Amino acid sequence: MPRPLSATVHLDSMQHNLARVRACTPGAKVWGVVKANAYGHGLERGMRGFAGADGLALIETEGAVRLRELGWTGPLLLLEGVFEAADTALLDKYSINSAVHCVEQIAMLEQASFSRPIDVHLKMNTGMNRLGVRPDQFAQAWKRLRAIAAVREITLMTHFANADELEHPRLTVREQVRRFCKGADGIDGPRSLSNSGGVLHQAELAAELSNDWVRPGIMLYGGTPGGKPAAEFGLRPTMTLASEIIGVQDIVAGDTVGYGSRFEAAAPMRIGVVACGYADGYPRHAPHGTPVLVDGVRTVLVGRVSMDMMTVDLTGVAGARVGSKVVLWGAGLPVDEVADAAGTIGYELMCAVAPRVRMLEA
Ligand code: PLP
Repeated sequence: MPRPLSATVHLDSMQHNLARVRACTPGAKVWGVVKANAYGHGLERGMRGFAGADGLALIETEGAVRLRELGWTGPLLLLEGVFEAADTALLDKYSINSAVHCVEQIAMLEQASFSRPIDVHLKMNTGMNRLGVRPDQFAQAWKRLRAIAAVREITLMTHFANADELEHPRLTVREQVRRFCKGADGIDGPRSLSNSGGVLHQAELAAELSNDWVRPGIMLYGGTPGGKPAAEFGLRPTMTLASEIIGVQDIVAGDTVGYGSRFEAAAPMRIGVVACGYADGYPRHAPHGTPVLVDGVRTVLVGRVSMDMMTVDLTGVAGARVGSKVVLWGAGLPVDEVADAAGTIGYELMCAVAPRVRMLEA
């Protein structure tokens, strides 16, 4: 019997969420973002779940090559471009589009030889200050790219820092769009600005924001970048991390639970031991009170998460016993809610599911 712990990927929910993206941004083409092993769901499942996307976008060059080997024939985009000159040969061999975010990457493309046309996304830094060419240097970068014979289409791209919070006090989406439009003034080409936050708020941003290509990640996986719950946007969970109760302890007031004896019972309690710990990707820092479902009943984590197990309160869960089903996130318990309780984001939880966790499909 394998250890009773699995992450079930819901392919139908992935398709559903892709349809939600299209409903939010009619007319825009969709890059399904499948970096980081499709946010922990498995690259191949990402490919199948988002088979209806117009293209797949990721960070990992080897992942792009794998997608080709798995039979993906649509567009592929490397969101951070190539990391070394030699990788330009892979762009050519596997027909992969590349982001270009700095002059060093432009130089790599200038020196590369291509046997077929290549499409690129030129990225502008509009305030995120991570990757991208500054708005005042954008036209110059574009001209250099335009002069490369093999470069066919140049999509103009930027990335939002706070698309989940439209009225962000430091940097708003609207301000980033304004800087983008100024930097791209007079330059023709398709535009790609929105991540999930931009897509989810497209209706409010309609006057300022339009995209030829959107690049949603987290919303395709049933989460949001922050703000309103995913269900309010009609998104469905795409991963259920589930386990079972493997032990039960009846304790009395004053007893403590787990490493560090950090949790002390104030009254008699029934504690359930769940076969999932931080070596499986469950966050060790999740505090007492983090929600868990046992046999469909909502209860909470107690005590410290250990490497292979965690402990939950079964006191109010009638009939709970060894073998009871536990949902740590997913169907019935949004990953964003667990992440909130643990002081992190749904992205991190899903990406961190460890290789030893059995992956299933539904
Ligand atoms: N586009 C780029 C350039 C990214 O780096 C990311 C992820 O960080 C995304 C799109 C997808 O973002 P999200 O998962 O918030 O939709």
